[in-house]
Amino acid sequence: MDNKADHSYQATHYDIIIAGAGCAGLSLLYSILRSPVLSSQKILVVDKSFEKSNDRTWCFWETHNGKFDALVCKKWEQISVHKNEFSTTLPTAPFTYKMVEGIEFYKHVMDFAKQFTNLHWQEAHISSIDTINEEAIVYWEGGAAQGRKVFSSIFPIDDLYVISQSKQSTPFLWQHFKGHLVSFEESVFDDRVARLMDFNVDQHGATAFMYVLPLSDKKALVEYTLFSKTLLKPEAYSQAINHYIQANYPAIPYQINHEEIGAIPMTTQSLAKSKAPIYVIGTLGNAVKASTGYAFQFIQAQVDTIVSNLEQGGPIQTEVQQTRHQFYDAVLLYILYHDLMEGSEIFKRIFEKNSIETIFKFLSNTSSIWEDIRIMRSLPTKIFLPAAIKVLFRRG
Ligand SMILES: Cc1cc2nc3c(=O)[nH]c(=O)nc-3n(C[C@H](O)[C@H](O)[C@H](O)COP(=O)(O)OP(=O)(O)OC[C@H]3O[C@@H](n4cnc5c(N)ncnc54)[C@H](O)[C@@H]3O)c2cc1C
Repeated sequence: MDNKADHSYQATHYDIIIAGAGCAGLSLLYSILRSPVLSSQKILVVDKSFEKSNDRTWCFWETHNGKFDALVCKKWEQISVHKNEFSTTLPTAPFTYKMVEGIEFYKHVMDFAKQFTNLHWQEAHISSIDTINEEAIVYWEGGAAQGRKVFSSIFPIDDLYVISQSKQSTPFLWQHFKGHLVSFEESVFDDRVARLMDFNVDQHGATAFMYVLPLSDKKALVEYTLFSKTLLKPEAYSQAINHYIQANYPAIPYQINHEEIGAIPMTTQSLAKSKAPIYVIGTLGNAVKASTGYAFQFIQAQVDTIVSNLEQGGPIQTEVQQTRHQFYDAVLLYILYHDLMEGSEIFKRIFEKNSIETIFKFLSNTSSIWEDIRIMRSLPTKIFLPAAIKVLFRRG
């Protein structure tokens, strides 16, 4: 959102401009269009490309039927965690772990939106977003649009890499991963169980695990995931996945049907702030849970709050992580960033000593203080207490 914009364009005027049509932008659009109060607003959606691909799969947990249940391609009622001789399979009740494919989500929202003639799409690379006479103006090469409110989820990932490498007091890690969607010729998976974390992989001096989501007994998304300060060379992720498959399912022929890659910022540092009339949402709007990289459900909560604020005409609240849980996230990141305890050991202890209900509530920022204490009692005070004190007094 710089000020280097060329102000010479004649800008069309909108009530709402959504800058970025990914998970957050399209979730917001969908909720606005489903709101009887807001659906007739004049809306513009801008993205550098509306040619959507299946670039990501979202997994999340919930206790009830959700807004996107029709899009869920697979559900699990059990998850497992593994580290050396420790291996546990736990029921997820009352939660269900669900998967939605990115392409199905994009198509669903964009098809639904086709019926609205008050909605306009602009395919363009946004160069800047600025304010003008208490409104916002979005610029791209050769054009601009003015809006009473702009909701932006665009960020150049390269800028984030620079932030992550800069000297700072708040720890910044990346959750980076590559997934192979593999199909075996024989039955190899128990598709009732999502393997959430298998730490029996090369740790690369980081917190590293394999995440295995079986879609059937022959087909699974196998994802090598790391939490660390820097990314690996591109080939290292595929090598780790191939080793894992050879070790766990030896000599069974398989093929790779699809790949996905990602790097998600893990930090309690604010990436951008909302300031009327420009509001930040999604990853840019700090909707990613710093200690886990999960964002889908936080984005939905962020969108629900925004839509309710818009309906009531009050101030707009975009902050979804500002709870005591953000402090816990900061403590865990501090420990991982400073290598005070292995991440694999921390997660092993949490899953060894708590129910999934407590863990999922804790990771959703909805646990009670008593449940938080239960989680904390699984972890060594001599490491976590000094870290908590450091974080509390912001001593980096
Ligand atoms: C591969 C992958 C898998 C993930 N899996 C999960 C998961 O299982 N569970 C979970 O909770 N979270 C997951 N996440 C994290 C998070 O849910 C996603 O990153 C989510 O897509 C974030 O939504 P967003 O709208 O902030 O960003 P995006 O979905 O990336 O959307 C940003 C949009 O902005 C557009 N844009 C960017 N710059 C410009 C510009 N200058 N001009 C115009 N348009 C621009 C992009 O084209 C894009 O459409 C995953 C992330 C990735 C990358």
